[in-house]
Amino acid sequence: MNPLSANHPRPYRGRLAPSPTGYLHLGHARTFWQAQVRARARGGTLVLRNEDLDAARFKMEFVGAMLEDLRWFGLAWSEGPDLGGPFAPYNQSERMDNYRAAMEQLRAGNFIYPCTCSRKDIQAATRAPHANDDDEPIYPGTCRQKSPSSIFHLPSAKFAWRFRVPDGEVISFTDGNLGGQNFIAGKDFGDFVVWRGDDVPAYQLACVVDDAAMRITEVVRGADLLVSTARQILLYRALAAPVPDFFHCELMRDEAGARLAKRHDALGLRTLRARGLSPAQLRSG
Ligand code: GLU
Repeated sequence: MNPLSANHPRPYRGRLAPSPTGYLHLGHARTFWQAQVRARARGGTLVLRNEDLDAARFKMEFVGAMLEDLRWFGLAWSEGPDLGGPFAPYNQSERMDNYRAAMEQLRAGNFIYPCTCSRKDIQAATRAPHANDDDEPIYPGTCRQKSPSSIFHLPSAKFAWRFRVPDGEVISFTDGNLGGQNFIAGKDFGDFVVWRGDDVPAYQLACVVDDAAMRITEVVRGADLLVSTARQILLYRALAAPVPDFFHCELMRDEAGARLAKRHDALGLRTLRARGLSPAQLRSG
Protein backbone atom coordinates (compact mmCIF):
# COMPACT_ATOMS: atom_id res chain seq x y z
CA MET A 1 0.00 0.00 0.00
CA ASN A 2 1.38 3.42 -0.69
CA PRO A 3 1.61 5.78 2.27
CA LEU A 4 -0.76 8.40 0.88
CA SER A 5 -3.72 6.09 0.55
CA ALA A 6 -2.94 4.37 3.87
CA ASN A 7 -3.25 7.73 5.61
CA HIS A 8 -6.57 8.47 3.95
CA PRO A 9 -8.59 5.28 3.98
CA ARG A 10 -11.21 5.73 1.27
CA PRO A 11 -13.94 3.35 0.15
CA TYR A 12 -12.57 0.96 -2.48
CA ARG A 13 -13.16 2.13 -6.04
CA GLY A 14 -11.74 0.20 -8.96
CA ARG A 15 -12.10 0.67 -12.69
CA LEU A 16 -12.21 -1.08 -16.04
CA ALA A 17 -10.67 1.20 -18.65
CA PRO A 18 -10.86 -0.44 -22.07
CA SER A 19 -9.98 1.36 -25.32
CA PRO A 20 -12.42 0.78 -28.19
CA THR A 21 -9.70 0.23 -30.80
CA GLY A 22 -10.49 -3.41 -31.55
CA TYR A 23 -12.38 -6.39 -30.18
CA LEU A 24 -11.41 -7.44 -26.69
CA HIS A 25 -9.40 -10.59 -26.24
CA LEU A 26 -9.11 -13.06 -23.41
CA GLY A 27 -6.11 -11.24 -21.92
CA HIS A 28 -8.14 -8.05 -21.36
CA ALA A 29 -11.07 -10.01 -20.01
CA ARG A 30 -8.92 -11.86 -17.47
CA THR A 31 -7.40 -8.61 -16.22
CA PHE A 32 -10.86 -7.07 -15.89
CA TRP A 33 -12.04 -10.18 -14.08
CA GLN A 34 -9.29 -9.70 -11.50
CA ALA A 35 -10.38 -6.08 -11.10
CA GLN A 36 -13.93 -7.23 -10.42
CA VAL A 37 -12.88 -9.95 -7.97
CA ARG A 38 -10.79 -7.43 -6.03
CA ALA A 39 -13.55 -4.81 -5.97
CA ARG A 40 -16.15 -7.34 -4.79
CA ALA A 41 -13.89 -8.77 -2.10
CA ARG A 42 -13.69 -5.28 -0.61
CA GLY A 43 -17.35 -4.43 -1.05
CA GLY A 44 -16.17 -1.73 -3.45
CA THR A 45 -17.48 0.05 -6.52
CA LEU A 46 -16.39 -0.78 -10.05
CA VAL A 47 -16.40 1.95 -12.69
CA LEU A 48 -16.29 1.48 -16.46
CA ARG A 49 -14.43 4.22 -18.32
CA ASN A 50 -14.41 4.26 -22.10
CA GLU A 51 -10.93 5.40 -23.20
CA ASP A 52 -11.93 6.73 -26.60
CA LEU A 53 -9.44 9.56 -27.11
CA ASP A 54 -7.45 8.03 -29.91
CA ALA A 55 -9.69 9.18 -32.77
CA ALA A 56 -7.38 7.70 -35.42
CA ARG A 57 -7.81 4.15 -34.12
CA PHE A 58 -11.15 4.42 -32.38
CA LYS A 59 -14.23 2.95 -34.04
CA MET A 60 -17.78 3.47 -32.86
CA GLU A 61 -18.72 -0.16 -33.57
CA PHE A 62 -16.14 -1.29 -31.01
CA VAL A 63 -17.78 0.62 -28.14
CA GLY A 64 -21.02 -1.38 -28.27
CA ALA A 65 -19.12 -4.61 -28.90
CA MET A 66 -16.86 -3.89 -25.95
CA LEU A 67 -19.72 -3.44 -23.48
CA GLU A 68 -21.51 -6.48 -24.82
CA ASP A 69 -18.41 -8.69 -24.62
CA LEU A 70 -17.64 -7.54 -21.09
CA ARG A 71 -21.16 -8.31 -19.91
CA TRP A 72 -21.14 -11.66 -21.63
CA PHE A 73 -17.91 -12.53 -19.82
CA GLY A 74 -19.65 -11.83 -16.52
CA LEU A 75 -18.48 -8.33 -15.71
CA ALA A 76 -20.77 -5.80 -14.09
CA TRP A 77 -20.07 -2.19 -13.21
CA SER A 78 -22.16 0.33 -11.33
CA GLU A 79 -20.97 3.54 -13.02
CA GLY A 80 -20.20 3.93 -16.71
CA PRO A 81 -21.12 5.53 -20.05
CA ASP A 82 -24.25 3.35 -20.25
CA LEU A 83 -25.33 3.91 -16.63
CA GLY A 84 -24.12 7.37 -15.70
CA GLY A 85 -22.96 8.02 -12.16
CA PRO A 86 -21.59 10.68 -9.82
CA PHE A 87 -18.42 11.25 -11.87
CA ALA A 88 -20.01 11.37 -15.34
CA PRO A 89 -19.21 11.61 -18.19
CA TYR A 90 -17.43 8.25 -18.46
CA ASN A 91 -16.36 8.65 -22.10
CA GLN A 92 -12.93 10.28 -22.20
CA SER A 93 -13.85 12.15 -25.39
CA GLU A 94 -16.34 14.15 -23.28
CA ARG A 95 -13.86 15.07 -20.55
CA MET A 96 -11.55 17.41 -22.46
CA ASP A 97 -12.03 20.32 -20.04
CA ASN A 98 -10.60 18.25 -17.19
CA TYR A 99 -7.52 17.37 -19.23
CA ARG A 100 -6.98 20.95 -20.32
CA ALA A 101 -7.19 22.17 -16.74
CA ALA A 102 -4.59 19.60 -15.64
CA MET A 103 -2.34 20.57 -18.53
CA GLU A 104 -2.54 24.22 -17.46
CA GLN A 105 -1.67 23.20 -13.91
CA LEU A 106 1.41 21.31 -15.14
CA ARG A 107 2.38 24.22 -17.31
CA ALA A 108 2.03 26.72 -14.47
CA GLY A 109 4.20 24.46 -12.29
CA ASN A 110 6.85 24.26 -15.05
CA PHE A 111 6.61 20.46 -15.15
CA ILE A 112 6.23 20.29 -18.93
CA TYR A 113 7.80 21.83 -22.03
CA PRO A 114 6.81 22.11 -25.68
CA CYS A 115 8.52 19.70 -28.07
CA THR A 116 8.63 19.76 -31.86
CA CYS A 117 10.34 16.38 -32.34
CA SER A 118 8.55 13.88 -34.50
CA ARG A 119 8.62 10.15 -33.80
CA LYS A 120 11.08 9.88 -36.68
CA ASP A 121 13.43 12.51 -35.16
CA ILE A 122 13.46 10.59 -31.90
CA GLN A 123 14.08 7.25 -33.54
CA ALA A 124 16.89 8.78 -35.58
CA ALA A 125 18.60 10.23 -32.48
CA THR A 126 21.62 8.11 -31.64
CA ARG A 127 20.92 7.60 -27.95
CA ALA A 128 17.34 6.47 -28.03
CA PRO A 129 17.00 3.01 -26.55
CA HIS A 130 13.53 1.74 -25.81
CA ALA A 131 12.24 1.85 -22.28
CA ASN A 132 11.94 -1.54 -20.58
CA ASP A 133 8.91 -3.53 -21.50
CA ASP A 134 7.13 -0.80 -23.40
CA ASP A 135 7.30 0.69 -26.86
CA GLU A 136 8.21 4.24 -26.01
CA PRO A 137 11.77 5.22 -26.99
CA ILE A 138 13.65 7.25 -24.37
CA TYR A 139 13.42 10.87 -25.40
CA PRO A 140 16.93 12.23 -26.11
CA GLY A 141 16.10 15.64 -24.61
CA THR A 142 16.39 17.73 -27.79
CA CYS A 143 13.72 20.30 -26.86
CA ARG A 144 14.29 20.26 -23.09
CA GLN A 145 16.59 23.26 -23.04
CA LYS A 146 14.87 25.32 -25.72
CA SER A 147 12.96 28.37 -24.60
CA PRO A 148 9.24 27.75 -25.04
CA SER A 149 8.81 31.06 -26.85
CA SER A 150 11.30 30.00 -29.55
CA ILE A 151 8.97 27.05 -30.22
CA PHE A 152 5.71 29.03 -30.06
CA HIS A 153 7.03 31.33 -32.78
CA LEU A 154 7.91 28.58 -35.23
CA PRO A 155 5.88 28.81 -38.44
CA SER A 156 4.92 25.11 -38.41
CA ALA A 157 3.46 25.56 -34.90
CA LYS A 158 2.86 21.84 -34.30
CA PHE A 159 4.22 20.76 -30.97
CA ALA A 160 3.56 18.30 -28.19
CA TRP A 161 4.00 18.87 -24.46
CA ARG A 162 6.41 16.63 -22.59
CA PHE A 163 6.83 15.98 -18.89
CA ARG A 164 10.37 16.68 -17.65
CA VAL A 165 11.28 13.60 -15.58
CA PRO A 166 13.62 13.97 -12.57
CA ASP A 167 16.67 12.25 -14.08
CA GLY A 168 18.22 9.64 -11.79
CA GLU A 169 15.36 9.54 -9.28
CA VAL A 170 14.13 6.06 -8.42
CA ILE A 171 10.35 5.84 -8.64
CA SER A 172 9.24 3.06 -6.30
CA PHE A 173 5.94 1.46 -5.52
CA THR A 174 4.74 -1.77 -3.99
CA ASP A 175 2.56 -3.63 -6.43
CA GLY A 176 -0.30 -5.63 -4.92
CA ASN A 177 0.54 -8.59 -7.15
CA LEU A 178 4.18 -8.27 -8.19
CA GLY A 179 5.71 -6.72 -5.07
CA GLY A 180 8.37 -3.98 -4.93
CA GLN A 181 8.98 -2.09 -8.18
CA ASN A 182 11.72 0.45 -8.93
CA PHE A 183 12.17 2.45 -12.10
CA ILE A 184 14.87 5.05 -12.67
CA ALA A 185 13.62 8.25 -14.30
CA GLY A 186 15.71 9.13 -17.35
CA LYS A 187 16.98 5.56 -17.66
CA ASP A 188 14.00 3.21 -17.58
CA PHE A 189 11.77 5.86 -19.13
CA GLY A 190 12.36 9.36 -20.42
CA ASP A 191 10.47 12.64 -20.79
CA PHE A 192 7.02 11.52 -21.92
CA VAL A 193 4.27 13.21 -23.89
CA VAL A 194 1.29 14.49 -21.92
CA TRP A 195 -0.34 16.38 -24.78
CA ARG A 196 0.09 15.27 -28.37
CA GLY A 197 0.99 17.38 -31.39
CA ASP A 198 -2.45 16.69 -32.88
CA ASP A 199 -3.99 18.40 -29.83
CA VAL A 200 -5.15 15.26 -28.02
CA PRO A 201 -4.25 14.52 -24.39
CA ALA A 202 -1.90 11.55 -24.16
CA TYR A 203 -2.93 8.34 -22.38
CA GLN A 204 -0.69 9.06 -19.35
CA LEU A 205 -2.35 12.38 -18.57
CA ALA A 206 -5.94 11.41 -19.33
CA CYS A 207 -5.64 8.27 -17.24
CA VAL A 208 -4.23 10.05 -14.17
CA VAL A 209 -6.70 12.93 -14.38
CA ASP A 210 -9.63 10.51 -14.57
CA ASP A 211 -8.42 8.04 -11.97
CA ALA A 212 -7.96 10.99 -9.59
CA ALA A 213 -11.30 12.65 -10.47
CA MET A 214 -13.18 9.34 -10.20
CA ARG A 215 -11.57 8.68 -6.78
CA ILE A 216 -10.08 5.38 -7.88
CA THR A 217 -8.29 3.76 -4.93
CA GLU A 218 -6.75 0.78 -6.75
CA VAL A 219 -5.75 0.46 -10.40
CA VAL A 220 -5.76 -3.13 -11.71
CA ARG A 221 -4.10 -3.37 -15.11
CA GLY A 222 -1.79 -5.52 -17.24
CA ALA A 223 1.92 -5.81 -16.42
CA ASP A 224 2.74 -4.20 -19.79
CA LEU A 225 1.86 -0.92 -18.06
CA LEU A 226 4.34 -1.15 -15.15
CA VAL A 227 6.61 1.53 -16.61
CA SER A 228 3.60 3.70 -17.36
CA THR A 229 2.62 3.41 -13.72
CA ALA A 230 6.01 4.90 -12.79
CA ARG A 231 5.37 7.79 -15.21
CA GLN A 232 1.90 8.27 -13.81
CA ILE A 233 3.18 8.44 -10.22
CA LEU A 234 5.16 11.51 -11.30
CA LEU A 235 1.98 13.03 -12.71
CA TYR A 236 0.00 12.40 -9.50
CA ARG A 237 2.79 14.11 -7.61
CA ALA A 238 2.90 17.10 -9.96
CA LEU A 239 -0.89 17.46 -9.79
CA ALA A 240 -0.91 17.02 -6.00
CA ALA A 241 -3.41 14.16 -6.29
CA PRO A 242 -3.43 11.05 -4.04
CA VAL A 243 -1.66 8.07 -5.61
CA PRO A 244 -3.87 4.95 -5.82
CA ASP A 245 -2.65 1.44 -5.08
CA PHE A 246 -1.62 -0.70 -8.05
CA PHE A 247 -2.14 -4.35 -8.93
CA HIS A 248 -0.53 -5.48 -12.20
CA CYS A 249 -1.71 -8.75 -13.71
CA GLU A 250 0.61 -11.12 -15.55
CA LEU A 251 0.13 -10.90 -19.30
CA MET A 252 -1.36 -13.70 -21.32
CA ARG A 253 0.92 -14.87 -24.10
CA ASP A 254 0.23 -16.92 -27.22
CA GLU A 255 1.97 -20.28 -27.91
CA ALA A 256 4.95 -18.48 -29.44
CA GLY A 257 5.36 -16.40 -26.27
CA ALA A 258 4.17 -13.16 -27.87
CA ARG A 259 1.97 -10.82 -25.87
CA LEU A 260 -1.70 -10.97 -26.87
CA ALA A 261 -2.87 -8.05 -28.94
CA LYS A 262 -6.20 -7.08 -30.40
CA ARG A 263 -5.06 -8.61 -33.70
CA HIS A 264 -4.97 -12.11 -32.13
CA ASP A 265 -8.38 -13.03 -33.44
CA ALA A 266 -8.19 -16.63 -32.26
CA LEU A 267 -8.33 -15.44 -28.65
CA GLY A 268 -10.86 -12.69 -29.27
CA LEU A 269 -13.86 -12.99 -26.95
CA ARG A 270 -16.20 -12.94 -29.96
CA THR A 271 -14.34 -15.79 -31.64
CA LEU A 272 -14.24 -17.89 -28.48
CA ARG A 273 -17.91 -17.29 -27.88
CA ALA A 274 -18.76 -18.26 -31.48
CA ARG A 275 -16.81 -21.50 -30.92
CA GLY A 276 -19.21 -22.31 -28.09
CA LEU A 277 -16.90 -21.70 -25.13
CA SER A 278 -18.59 -20.44 -21.98
CA PRO A 279 -17.38 -17.53 -19.85
CA ALA A 280 -16.84 -19.92 -16.92
CA GLN A 281 -14.55 -22.11 -19.06
CA LEU A 282 -12.62 -19.06 -20.23
CA ARG A 283 -12.22 -17.66 -16.76
CA SER A 284 -10.81 -20.86 -15.35
CA GLY A 285 -8.88 -22.09 -18.39
N1 GLU B 1 -7.18 2.11 -22.11
C1 GLU B 1 -5.94 1.58 -21.63
C2 GLU B 1 -5.72 0.22 -22.26
O1 GLU B 1 -6.68 -0.40 -22.67
C3 GLU B 1 -6.05 1.52 -20.14
C4 GLU B 1 -4.93 1.00 -19.42
C5 GLU B 1 -5.04 1.23 -17.92
O2 GLU B 1 -4.63 2.28 -17.48
O3 GLU B 1 -5.58 0.35 -17.24
O4 GLU B 1 -4.60 -0.21 -22.41
